Amino acid sequence: MTAGIDPVLSAPRPRFAETDAVSLASATFGVAAVSARNLGSERDQAFLLVGNVGDPLAVMKVSNPAESTAMLDMEALVVAHIARADPDLPVARPWPAPGVETTGAEGFRVRAEGCWVRMYDVMPGHGRRDPLTFDDEVLTAWGTTTARLSRATRGFFHHAGGRVMPWDVQHALTVRPMVPCIADPDWQATVHGALDRYEAVVSPVWSALRAQIVHGDLTTDNALVDNDGRVTGIVDFGDMSHSASIIDLVATLDSLGAGRSGAELLRVARLIIDGYERVLPLESVELAILGELWAARAAIGVAISSWRVEQGLEDAAFAERYNPTAMEMVDTLESVGWRLGPSRPPRRGALVARREVAFGPGMEALTYDEPIEVVSAEGVWLTASDGRRYLDMYNNVPCVGHAHPRVVEAIARQGRVLNTNLRYLHRDAIELAERLADRCPAELDTVVFVNSGSEANDLAWRMACAVTGRSGGLCTSFAYHGVTEAVAAFSPETWPSGYEPGHIGRWAPPDALRSAHLGPQGFTAAIDHLAGRGHGLAAVMLDGVLQSDGVLDPAADYVQDMVRRTHAAGGLWIADEVQGGHGRTGLGLWSFERFGVTPDFVTLGKPMGNGHPVAAVITRRSTAAAFGAAQGTFFSTFGGNQVSIAAASAVLDVLDDERVIERTAIVGEQLRTALHRVMINDDWVGDVRGVGLANAVEIVTDRTTNTPDPHQAETFKNALRRHGVLVGTTGPVGNVIKIRPPLAFHADHLVPFIDGWEAARSSVLMG
Ligand code: PMP
Repeated sequence: MTAGIDPVLSAPRPRFAETDAVSLASATFGVAAVSARNLGSERDQAFLLVGNVGDPLAVMKVSNPAESTAMLDMEALVVAHIARADPDLPVARPWPAPGVETTGAEGFRVRAEGCWVRMYDVMPGHGRRDPLTFDDEVLTAWGTTTARLSRATRGFFHHAGGRVMPWDVQHALTVRPMVPCIADPDWQATVHGALDRYEAVVSPVWSALRAQIVHGDLTTDNALVDNDGRVTGIVDFGDMSHSASIIDLVATLDSLGAGRSGAELLRVARLIIDGYERVLPLESVELAILGELWAARAAIGVAISSWRVEQGLEDAAFAERYNPTAMEMVDTLESVGWRLGPSRPPRRGALVARREVAFGPGMEALTYDEPIEVVSAEGVWLTASDGRRYLDMYNNVPCVGHAHPRVVEAIARQGRVLNTNLRYLHRDAIELAERLADRCPAELDTVVFVNSGSEANDLAWRMACAVTGRSGGLCTSFAYHGVTEAVAAFSPETWPSGYEPGHIGRWAPPDALRSAHLGPQGFTAAIDHLAGRGHGLAAVMLDGVLQSDGVLDPAADYVQDMVRRTHAAGGLWIADEVQGGHGRTGLGLWSFERFGVTPDFVTLGKPMGNGHPVAAVITRRSTAAAFGAAQGTFFSTFGGNQVSIAAASAVLDVLDDERVIERTAIVGEQLRTALHRVMINDDWVGDVRGVGLANAVEIVTDRTTNTPDPHQAETFKNALRRHGVLVGTTGPVGNVIKIRPPLAFHADHLVPFIDGWEAARSSVLMG
């Protein structure tokens, strides 16, 4: 036997006859039993003691002589711990030994005939039920019970937990020398396969798994169940050791999976896991190796039982009863690559082609001439399916950074608790509305939650029309405000050629580089044009960082003048903060703040939930009231659901805690300075501009004419991608490189950014 392995494994179990058990019970705990029934156990003996009317009195356990007293004491103490941590969890409790003064763990055992004897309450229920009789609900309930057991045990410590038990999956590889004892060569190969896989996949991550003292063997052999199969008693803590926390789940899967295989085995496993995760959500690493752990446990059982039979320690029929089903389970797990997720038929074909078929031709084209499949992200870094990391200088939605833990956890936590709608009182939604209103000019005191920037603008527009009784709208010449029918009309960026909705007027925003459109003429002309077509001005929509128009930063007095003119014409001002809001400018939470104006509507979206869909309209109470009077109440099923609110609240918290706005102002300035240094002498760079982390580099044919060069912009964008930096293009002709990273971008990221930028620049210049 391998050194360090618990001697209990090979020591023969005690062999008291049932009649001896009766006298042992009387001598040790004074139990006056009429008869005793041997309950069968691998290493110990357990007897059900029966009274004179056939009534069960107690369960007596006679330990293996090789068992250490520390182990027995650990068993007594853990039950007391569980009773405190989860009083409703049905665990069998040991009896105090008669006449023993101490209240310590040693007061639960009595020495007799060379063995330790313990007495336990009889738990209700049936033993050794066939798990094939359990229905789905019962299977899920087993998962939940398993998690409760792990949770109730996790704060427990005892030095005996350090024992080395070969059944404990952490020592899976120690059973290798036993494999030759398996009679069937196919089974030997299967067991080796499971152990090889364990060695390759589990061993490297084992040290990082959550660990605790675990029960170690929650199976149908060690639990009593009611008529349906629900656990009514957890009876044997003899396999405890300090191991990975999920080992209890592994034992449950292994036990309840017996007799099942193929898709049904995996379906049942998923139900059990669902039940478990109701109480204890798994970490990704745990979920990733669950199949391997399960297969290893099944393989260990086959190896140890075969070895024990060969050693003459056990009767083959009893010891090897689970081996055929264990091998079937391992075969199933191996056949699906050890993954427990639903199996779907494999699809053929490149993703790009499948995307085109699945999403259809109306879907926007992929970015980059070699599209990227992004598989994970963190902060300002994206990781592609080939493992390559990219600096994300494009995505403004994950404003506090991809996968920010505060936001991710807020979403997950709330999802576990409740997710409904605003027809119920929801404190957090009300508080978020109050916080948002507090961050706006005083008169903007009313918040309506929706799900996307498009919906926010759509609703603001509907309100504006209802309140003004007018029908005309104004937007910048190449604006984008969303996808609904109403706001697609405000999105000339996506208009098909020749399309020009009659109720929408456009004006060209100031182009400082070319000194064009600096005055209000275009704006007033557009209002007049609308009026000429019979549309009074209801609203003007402006994206505060003018992303689609080429990332522009108009002067405050210019915007103030536009707002004045809008109001003078009887219209309302919609500040679209979907791009510029949540700190993007580094000059305030909202981009309109730097203009010193008070909008009539503020619309929020994209960064509001850091990637989780949530959006809002903020307006005056009187506006909302007038809208209600004209059009009835407003309700959006998902708008303001608890999970979205949790995400949006977390984003605001992080923006404050990390002082993101202040950092954005500083690092934005540094970024433009660095870009200037690298590019400003290039004749093909017309302009480096921006505010905060809404920045642009305008690509032109030459600096004399500043003629836009969209082709070169596209080439440069793809070159940057090849050098690990992701940007996009924008502007009326697509010659503007837009640089708007997550606001998690900070000074350290300037180095990889500028390195990538210089490398891309050299590659483009060299043609
Ligand atoms: N307004 C602006 C300024 C936007 O940039 C966008 C999206 N790019 C929208 C509105 C629409 O938001 P969503 O895609 O969430 O509907």
